[in-house]
Formats: sequence, C-alpha cells, structure tokens
Amino acid sequence: MKNEIMSEEEFKNVLFNECKAREIELDDTKLEKFVKYRNLLIEWNEKMNLTAITNDYEIIIKHFVDCLECTKVIEKEQSFIDVGTGAGFPGMVLAIYYPDKEFTLLDALNKRLIFLEEVVKSLDIHNVKIIHGRAEEIVRINNMYESFDASVSRAVAQLPTLLEYTSPYVRVNGKCIVMKGDNVEDEINLSSNALKILNLKILNKYHYKFNINDEEYNRIILSIIKTNKTPEKYPRNYGKIKKNPL
Ligand code: SAM
Repeated sequence: MKNEIMSEEEFKNVLFNECKAREIELDDTKLEKFVKYRNLLIEWNEKMNLTAITNDYEIIIKHFVDCLECTKVIEKEQSFIDVGTGAGFPGMVLAIYYPDKEFTLLDALNKRLIFLEEVVKSLDIHNVKIIHGRAEEIVRINNMYESFDASVSRAVAQLPTLLEYTSPYVRVNGKCIVMKGDNVEDEINLSSNALKILNLKILNKYHYKFNINDEEYNRIILSIIKTNKTPEKYPRNYGKIKKNPL
C-alpha cells in the first residue's frame, strides 16, 4: 500500500514517475499546479462532497493519471468542452497539461463550480471557462452548437444519453472523447441508434489499465467522430432523454 498522505515533494515524485512510465511528460510548473490542485481538493472536500477519493496515491492514479491518459487520443484539437466536469475531471487536469488549448468546464451542480473557480484563481490558470447549467439546456441558451473541436467526459451518463448531451457542442469532423470502464461494449451495443441519429461514428478505442493494491482497473477511451451536423431536434429536454433514451 502506497502512503495515504504524502508530502508535497513525495506527491510530485510519484505523479512524475507514474506519468513517465506511461510516456506522459510533466515539467515542474505542471507538477506544482497538480500539488496545489490536490491541496485544494483535500481542503474543500472537508466542506463539500467533491470526491470519494482522498488517499494521495489514489488521487494521483484515479484522478490525475487517469485523466492524463486522454493525452494519448488528443491531437490537434484546440477547444474542448468537459460536460459534467464535477471537480474538474478530466477538463481541469487537461487544462493544466495543455496551457495553449482552451477548456470550457460545464456542470449542473454549482457548488463544484465554486471549487473550480478557486482552482483557476489559485493555480493562475488562463485557459479555462466555467459554465453552470444542464448540458442539454446550455447548448441552446448560449447558442453553443458546433462550437468546440472536441468534448471530453468521464462518468456522466450511459453512452446514448452522454452522446445526446455532448455531440451537439462538437463541430463537424470534431470528436466526442468518452472515458469509460471496461464494460463499455454493452453500452456500445446499446448506442447504434444514438450514433446513427446524431451522425457519429466510433473511430478508435484506446485501452489502458492501472493497478492499485493488487486490484486491476481496465479503462477505455472512445474517440467518436461527428460526421455531420446534429439534427435540430437534439438534444431533447431532460424529461424526454430520461424517459426515452436514444
Ligand atoms: N466527470 C467527473 C469525474 O469523473 O470525477 C464528475 C463525475 S460525477 C459522477 C457526474 C457529474 O456530471 C456531476 O457533477 C453532475 O452534476 C454532472 N452532470 C450530470 N448530468 C449533467 C447534465 N445533463 N448537464 C451538466 N452536468 C451534468
């Protein structure tokens, strides 16, 4: 069992080495920001429910390294929306890694966004915009159809529903990047209708895994391309999405 609570130096070393082993390079500036992010996460988690994960090694692996695995599927995309970002996963992690790309973090739960505002301020982050609201409503209210190169999301909804939330935001030929556990094949089988209606095609499945205390976690990142505009009818309102998922 790795240490539950690490000094800042130890935290940086473990994060650096875990990333290096996966060919993800982190410099001192980024490591410093990840430590500050960890500190705020622990501090704020005492006041509000941000994450069930408070053990330092698990924060490193399940939050930071897991989200940084998205760098393996990100190419030239410049603008991203993280739908259902929660405490910033994966959007804030990727914004720290890519200071020259733009990230919009969206969530329906305002208290988590107050935390994210604090992270932006304390870490001196300049490439993050934060929006409060439901994905299926904000795209119309803010007229954000087809305005991002890619969406990213982790642990928000079943694939057909998630794609109805995210794909309207993505430009034609852009990508929906979806982080999932290894039971994703069942969800993919349920998604043929959603993929067809929303003009989406699965391009690539990137598999990776990690071990914590002898337990193996298998993960997949789906890269789904948008081949044509989202039909105007979508996304439908929450009631309809819930009652009759695509
Ligand atoms: N992505 C983060 C992670 O992996 O740690 C948070 C995951 S949490 C289980 C799901 C988040 O999605 C919650 O913060 C919830 O408020 C948000 N969410 C769910 N449905 C949403 C919607 N329709 N629009 C915006 N946010 C939504």
